[in-house]
Amino acid sequence: MKILVIGAGVAGLSTTAHLQRAGHVVTLLERASEFRTSGSPIDVRGDTLDMVKALGLYDQLKADEIRTSADSVFVDDDGERVAVMSTHYLNDSDDDIEIARPDLMRILAGALAPDTDLRFSTTVTAIADGPDKVHVVLSDGTEDDYDVVVGADGVHSLIRSLVFGPEPDYVRFLGAYIFLAPVGPPADGQPSYLHLAPGRMLGLLQTPYTELIGGYVRSPQLTIDYRDPAAVREAIRGIFDGDERWRTQELVERMLESSGLYFDECAQTYMDTWSKGHVVLVGDAAHCASPLAGRGTSLGISAGRFLTDALAAHPGDLAAAFAEYEQRQRPYVERAQAHVAGSIDRNIPATAEAVEAQHEWLRQQEASRV
Ligand SMILES: Cc1cc2nc3c(=O)[nH]c(=O)nc-3n(C[C@H](O)[C@H](O)[C@H](O)COP(=O)(O)OP(=O)(O)OC[C@H]3O[C@@H](n4cnc5c(N)ncnc54)[C@H](O)[C@@H]3O)c2cc1C
Repeated sequence: MKILVIGAGVAGLSTTAHLQRAGHVVTLLERASEFRTSGSPIDVRGDTLDMVKALGLYDQLKADEIRTSADSVFVDDDGERVAVMSTHYLNDSDDDIEIARPDLMRILAGALAPDTDLRFSTTVTAIADGPDKVHVVLSDGTEDDYDVVVGADGVHSLIRSLVFGPEPDYVRFLGAYIFLAPVGPPADGQPSYLHLAPGRMLGLLQTPYTELIGGYVRSPQLTIDYRDPAAVREAIRGIFDGDERWRTQELVERMLESSGLYFDECAQTYMDTWSKGHVVLVGDAAHCASPLAGRGTSLGISAGRFLTDALAAHPGDLAAAFAEYEQRQRPYVERAQAHVAGSIDRNIPATAEAVEAQHEWLRQQEASRV
């Protein structure tokens, strides 16, 4: 089939690679001028590792595996040690692979067919579904008919808005924001530090390839343009204004100087169905679990695999194929989305009492490991 995939993130790249291996002809659009490669290390977990193996990418992932400083030191308002936490408790299994986002993106991009029609700085301006094909107009002025359109354009998906309806109908804000910025080379031999205060977490994180400052903050929904760097910086300054605990002001200033600052809502996508006519959604566009779940990458990879398998199982019957894709993907999504309620309370305790309770829990966890 002739298929258009919109968005070259983890979900779009993985879906394109799977579809091409099944013999489909894919055009891949990416709004940005290059792949998004900044960001934290990410984990590829559980069953998704088998899907990575099916793409022939497991050995490459394994070769680039990293291990973020295995332990994080939680500190109190004065910088005194509260507890040391191992990151292993997050893993599905010991086989989980932690990898730098730039490396994962490079490996997935390398899995595309060499002659892939990949168009950067290009998006969709109009979609009209018809009885046999879907007609799409692109921002580069071209237009064409496709057998299937796959929206892989993230939690703020344009394709979802154009085909299914406005974002607020599907995206639930979780009452918190994530912020993260690379701030320089890793500080050799240093652990990561995490500080909890009522309504926020702030961390100075060491990874093998960069030092990161980031965390989460509870907040009412802001009415700013997340793509406007000046507006984002002003919002972050407002959030931390006057906060003199630990090293907050120093770290926030360093973070704001970074050109790679990332700031967005923690949100989840809930839809009764991920397809309509010839259009289907994958990844965060369909089923974002939020960064707090730590499973979005795995879900993006599995979506591409299940969609491709389902199209092969139901030739000529898109409705049946899309239904099977959903039926196989939803259990993983539900598990990841459900995981987040507890994750918010653990990572962003709301009150001073909740912070103290979390500190106590961390001390107990540390003691139980000895
Ligand atoms: C800080 C952070 C840490 C995370 N840690 C983990 C982790 O440890 N493990 C894990 O599994 N997941 C993690 N995640 C989640 C994971 O990164 C995402 O869930 C996953 O990348 C979703 O992939 P996606 O391709 O659906 O969406 P995205 O990664 O958002 O990609 C969407 C792509 O579409 C493009 N695009 C957007 N709109 C358009 C348009 N209109 N036209 C064309 N292109 C468009 C975007 O530029 C982007 O390239 C984390 C996320 C964050 C933010």
